[in-house]
Amino acid sequence: MRFAVLGSGSRGNATLIECDDTRVLLDCGFPLREAERRLAAIDVHPRDLTAIVVTHEHGDHIAGVPRLAQRHGLEVWASPGTWKGACAGAGRRAGAGAVARLRLFPSHARRVRIGGLTLYPIPVPHDAREPCQFVFEGDGRRLGILTDAGTVTPRMCDALRECDALMLEANHDAELLRLGPYPASLQRRVGGAFGHLSNEQTAALLERVHHRALGKLLLSHLSQQNNRPELARAAVQGVCGDLDIMVADQDNGSGWIGV
Ligand SMILES: [Zn+2]
Ligand SMILES: [Zn+2]
Repeated sequence: MRFAVLGSGSRGNATLIECDDTRVLLDCGFPLREAERRLAAIDVHPRDLTAIVVTHEHGDHIAGVPRLAQRHGLEVWASPGTWKGACAGAGRRAGAGAVARLRLFPSHARRVRIGGLTLYPIPVPHDAREPCQFVFEGDGRRLGILTDAGTVTPRMCDALRECDALMLEANHDAELLRLGPYPASLQRRVGGAFGHLSNEQTAALLERVHHRALGKLLLSHLSQQNNRPELARAAVQGVCGDLDIMVADQDNGSGWIGV
């Protein structure tokens, strides 16, 4: 199994997870041509995708999903709440109502099978209708992906405990958020219980799920205003021992990472 971030941050998110012939695109917050360009950069054509899975209906995750799915005849998987939200918000403007091959699963489902990948949904506290993040399992390896969560929950820790690789949100530095350009209401939303994880919260989460066999850690969904890669790295460094910490980029993605 391997994965590649096509881009991560408030201007658009998409991550490709591949296991043998199965390729799942997790979210697509990029316009059609941009998504195709980013896939081409890692040598993937959209027709080679098995499905698109959507974590939640916010524009930075769903804005590019309907057109990409329609253009290439792809299945779209989402929780019922996420799709309801998509048909009412940013997804509606992007054409969610026209998606032909929709597959719904409850966010509390035990598992979802897509080709050679098994997905374990993790419900998360975030200000969307039925958001979930996932552990992907394939070839006997486990990749945990978690962004867009306001709080660390016991369920999250249980799900992420035995992963071979983790991609975790490190959205903001609490001090930079407090001193930064966001108005007070937006600061409260981002830093609140249904917003995004701070570097410190991510470090606390990692402390609870880190184990010696964890081979890869990728920090993601960094705020460009309220965080810096070196601050996010420094926050988790003490927890990770000598693990190599990678940071996903908004503009260039990550390239392929083996799990
Ligand atoms: Zn997001
Ligand atoms: Zn979100």
